[in-house]
Amino acid sequence: MVMATVVLVTGGTGLVGKALQHIIETEPVGSRYGKLPNETWIFASSAEGDLRDPAQTNKLYEKYKPTHVIHLAALVGGLFKNMKYKLTFLRDNILINDNILHASYTHKTTKLISCLSTCVFPDKVEYPLDENKIHSGPPHESNFGYAHAKRMVDVQNHAYKEEFGCNFTSAIPTNIFGPHDNYDLEDAHVIPALVHKCYLAKKNGTPFIVSGTGKPLRQFIFSYDLAKLFVWMLREYDDVEPIILSVGEDEEVSIKEVTDAIVKAVGFEGHYSFDTTKADGQFRKPATNKKLLDCHGAFKFTPFEQALDLSVKWFVENYDSARTGVNKKP
Ligand code: NDP
Repeated sequence: MVMATVVLVTGGTGLVGKALQHIIETEPVGSRYGKLPNETWIFASSAEGDLRDPAQTNKLYEKYKPTHVIHLAALVGGLFKNMKYKLTFLRDNILINDNILHASYTHKTTKLISCLSTCVFPDKVEYPLDENKIHSGPPHESNFGYAHAKRMVDVQNHAYKEEFGCNFTSAIPTNIFGPHDNYDLEDAHVIPALVHKCYLAKKNGTPFIVSGTGKPLRQFIFSYDLAKLFVWMLREYDDVEPIILSVGEDEEVSIKEVTDAIVKAVGFEGHYSFDTTKADGQFRKPATNKKLLDCHGAFKFTPFEQALDLSVKWFVENYDSARTGVNKKP
């Protein structure tokens, strides 16, 4: 008899959660990244339960009885929000993660994958980043709340495994972009912020100004590619040690290249400029995906421009319902 599998995705309504839902609904059933016939997938939002609260977390587990959990829910934000609300980022994420890990243990969940971020890595570190360097120095001061809360998941995963034999692990994605991103200009990450700014410049005939010099390099992963890698981890990766999910170091793109691709996808015909009085942040912080390729085998990442074009089209078509911050309550 084939056992029924219930996969609970926390943060199921966010950028990555929506991408997972898309992949599960569109990849052929039974394929490497597609839904298996015995699987039920649940994509939970915060409306189903505030995961900062242990009672609400337990209720969610009692309701769905998940055999597997992909834990994406987190308080997420851009640099400004991270700097302003360090304690909130630390505390909310510690509470959410602790509740999920403990509920997964008490409800005998077969497997739990939590989502970290390359922000967890030390500020002063030898590049490229790899999975062994997470705890080898303090994280960057600007987001230490978020980073420490996320690091602690790796510590807890090891403790749950050693004391109780739990099959808990974690993924470390680099910068993510795709449909359903957060485009709120006050706290968006770089790609959604530039997409939104460029869209407004085109619509209103206003200048399009990009903060910084445009020179820094970053690795971006398309949310649909990341979603496939989460499905792969769920089925084929059974190790407590985290794994970086990213395009290769040779696929870094500069902020200028990102901007040019956005301008093309939006169809903005005006002139744009860089505000070089604004800080650039680190020039580059490359992460290696060697472990991923060793474990998974070759993976066909969506070409950056193609993925960006798709994401921009989604934003333009869904402007009224997207998270633009326009209808945000004060
Ligand atoms: P989003 O901000 O798009 O979505 C966050 C999700 O978490 C939403 O579904 C939200 O629910 C849910 N959530 C937030 N707070 C709570 C809560 N208290 N209780 C229950 N649910 C909650 O995030 P992303 O999809 O971008 O991020 C997913 C994961 O990836 C996170 O763990 C993040 O740290 C990590 N990550 C993200 C990166 C990025 O570039 N975006 C880079 C690297 C890692 P609701 O919709 O109801 O508010």
